[in-house]
Amino acid sequence: MQYDVIVIGSGPGGYVAAIRSAQLGLKTACVEKYATYGGTCLNVGCIPSKALLDSSEHYYNASHAFKTHGINLDNLSLDMAQMMKRKTEVVAKNTAGISFLFKKNKIDGYQGIGSFRDKNTISIKKPDETTAEITGKNIIIATGSKPSSLPFIQIDKKRIITSTEALTLQEVPKHLVLIGGGVIGLELGSVYARLGAKVSVIEFMDSIIPTMDRGLGKELQKVLQKQGMEFYLGHKVTGAIAKGKEVTVTFDAPNGDKKELTGDYCLVAVGRIAYTNGLGLDKIGLSVEEHGRKITVNDHLETSVKGVYAIGDVVKGAMLAHKAEDEGTFVAEVIAGQKPHINYNLIPGVVYTWPEVAAVGQTEEQLKAANIKYKTGSFPFRASGRAVASGDLDGFVKVLADAATDEILGVHIIGPRAADMIAEAVVAMEFRASAEDISRMSHAHPTYTEAFREACLAATDNRPIHI
Ligand code: FAD
Ligand code: NAD
Repeated sequence: MQYDVIVIGSGPGGYVAAIRSAQLGLKTACVEKYATYGGTCLNVGCIPSKALLDSSEHYYNASHAFKTHGINLDNLSLDMAQMMKRKTEVVAKNTAGISFLFKKNKIDGYQGIGSFRDKNTISIKKPDETTAEITGKNIIIATGSKPSSLPFIQIDKKRIITSTEALTLQEVPKHLVLIGGGVIGLELGSVYARLGAKVSVIEFMDSIIPTMDRGLGKELQKVLQKQGMEFYLGHKVTGAIAKGKEVTVTFDAPNGDKKELTGDYCLVAVGRIAYTNGLGLDKIGLSVEEHGRKITVNDHLETSVKGVYAIGDVVKGAMLAHKAEDEGTFVAEVIAGQKPHINYNLIPGVVYTWPEVAAVGQTEEQLKAANIKYKTGSFPFRASGRAVASGDLDGFVKVLADAATDEILGVHIIGPRAADMIAEAVVAMEFRASAEDISRMSHAHPTYTEAFREACLAATDNRPIHI
């Protein structure tokens, strides 16, 4: 065999699997159909969206918050072309970083569409239409996902768009109609709302970010409404038609009333679907699940074909970059004969709105459904000295702890820098800390993390200090 490991796809699952395999002394190749490495995450996902979130947050603060800090700006203006150029540069730096890491780790990169000829042979269709073949003892499928749509909506990529196009708009929409109040909708909706667009969100469920703890969705909706976003919850979209520079979205209210909204762009953000087109899975006797088109794997992330593994968005579980990365490491270590472990219960979820939303572990709804008795401790950021200093008063930390043992079962945060704060909760829960353990640990003052300690004090025996 030419290679010990061939990875198909270079997203956070694939590139991490390739690097970890190489670190373990396995001769490794990675096949990527696009010109740059990094997959959805680096090219059209996490990284460009965060670049735009940061830029738009600066703009929003300059236009809405600087004055209270005693900073006056005259003639503030938006240079959309520069904002997009910076985003493109951020992406380029990150994707170039992966090329550097591949070279450093002596990983052979092949550009082209990889497909199975048999379980050890991958045919690569290169951009110039020529083909090459490589063989490997182990194959890791890391082909990720693509935006999904609704069967009755035609994405034209101009006025009816997905997240990919929303990351490259050359103008601020006047009115962005958003289908789906999940992570992508709220992050990209925030970008354009901060830049001055009217943003209307139509969500099928009765809450935004409906899979997270209900309290978080409620609070986030309140704050985003203050920022100017409007919400139609429990509404069912029935159509979207583009005509010239306008899009009309039709939808049904919970009571059956017919409604419509006309905007200049409609972003469809109703989830993503696993991507296996052109992989030739049938050549090795593999099929995909009907719903979601995911590849089925066992606990070792191995498919029903020995030596063929699959990781990341293309398999079950959360569609998150860090989950894909963890699986990349896991599978390389399995191939090298090690016995790695992933704690799927402790994969944090983050929404990069402002305030940020971050959570790990069980929600109240899940604990109730499982009949687990729990205690709750909450602490609002408006009572945090650090938050008062920065002016970020919205949100809270909520800790759920086992009623009998005090073990922390879930942490749900909405507030400033929640994305970074959640790491402490992950560590605590990995070591099975009780709420009292955290209550007794020193937290630097003044920091937002003190709010986590206060929520633990509230959960332990209702004795927060600062409220
Ligand atoms: P992908 O990143 O999708 O990579 C798959 C790669 O495989 C692609 O490069 C593709 O070109 C390649 N490929 C596919 N088929 C073939 C083939 N036959 N041959 C060769 N190559 C092939 N997650 C987070 O955790 N945090 C975030 O902040 C976040 N923000 C996001 C924002 C947006 C707008 C989007 C769309 C997603 C975001 N995500 C975020 C989700 C995250 O991007 C995905 O979970 C992650 O990229 C999945 O990694 P992956 O390696 O499984 O697949
Ligand atoms: P999502 O599942 O987060 O949200 C989709 C939303 O659309 C849901 O709230 C759902 O109820 C709603 N919906 C579905 N059908 C609908 C309909 N017919 N009408 C109205 N609403 C409808 O999916 P997404 O926001 O598209 O994101 C896709 C994936 O990308 C997610 O799995 C997410 O994990 C990942 N992602 C993660 C981050 C992050 O970690 N910060 C950021 C962006 C994307």
